[in-house]
Amino acid sequence: MIKPPYTLPSYADLNAPGTALHALNKLRGCLPAPVFMGAWHVVHSAFEAYRHNNINIPANVNEIIQPNSNRVTASQKAMLAPVGWTRPTGGPIRLTKLSVKSATDLLLSLQEQTEWRGNEERRQMRLNGNVQPVKGRRDRLLQYVALAEGTENCYQSAENADAATKAVCSMLRRAHRIRWNNKYKGPLWRLVYNGLPTAARLHKDDPCGCCGTDRPDIKHHFWDCPAVQNLVARINTLTNAQITRDNIWLARPMAGISSSVWSVVCVAVVAALDSARKLAYVYTHPKKSSTPIPPFAERQQLITRHVITYFWELLADYVTVHPSPPWVKDIPPTHPLISSLDYSTLRVVPPPT
Ligand SMILES: [Zn+2]
Repeated sequence: MIKPPYTLPSYADLNAPGTALHALNKLRGCLPAPVFMGAWHVVHSAFEAYRHNNINIPANVNEIIQPNSNRVTASQKAMLAPVGWTRPTGGPIRLTKLSVKSATDLLLSLQEQTEWRGNEERRQMRLNGNVQPVKGRRDRLLQYVALAEGTENCYQSAENADAATKAVCSMLRRAHRIRWNNKYKGPLWRLVYNGLPTAARLHKDDPCGCCGTDRPDIKHHFWDCPAVQNLVARINTLTNAQITRDNIWLARPMAGISSSVWSVVCVAVVAALDSARKLAYVYTHPKKSSTPIPPFAERQQLITRHVITYFWELLADYVTVHPSPPWVKDIPPTHPLISSLDYSTLRVVPPPT
């Protein structure tokens, strides 16, 4: 950590040769675009936050970042050292390895450290109806839990808020631990952090490509849309329950459902719905697509069929890749969605017709 006293360099100083922004600008073109933008955004936001708070930009920033030293180390120091940020597991992140995930991690940590209103103050403001832009991880997760549950319960007290945040983190950890292709887990992570390009988030007026609803947001694409409700109805039939949004979004299993199976199911549902969202986007943006676009009246049926097929394909993919995970001994042959043959091999229960 850099010790006081600090003086505040100007923005021009920050962009001068040898500084973090300059180092990053030199990296433009050497790194894949999303990684570069992630890193640039993190450094830029950090400095903006410091400037806004009039603190903490070390006066010797030019000394930390030597113009001719290793570029990765220089940028790494620029991002991590001034805030004392360390990676929760393992060593510091190398810029070349900076993924969208780690860049988001960094940004949220920096926001929490530099936002002058603490988490608690922000929660109380929200509770009093004073909704502020989302800053930091806790804000983001609370917003997600409130949307998933459809109530403001998680804002009611500090304990509720902490419990809700912890529950989402452990849900993501559980999902990530499933031994399965990581590309299927990405959509759930992006759903939690509102990182999916929906019309509402991009402030566009595009209608939903499936049902024509104006400005669909994540709640529409992952719950309200008729294509989603069709899949939910089939899951309801198989599980003999009435699942609600939080059952899927927060991976809360219903009574009598194995939590291991339910984690796989939730990851598969969100992946299938994200695939449907992309298909709906192709239908509303025909110029970017080379496939023929079906007329509007047929789209809903096509997308619904796509969701159902893709969801059951994913379940089949999972049981093919991992026919006997350690928890198979707890799965009875009558278990809905994914059952077992004599508690030894998983198999998929086909969709109800
Ligand atoms: Zn829709």
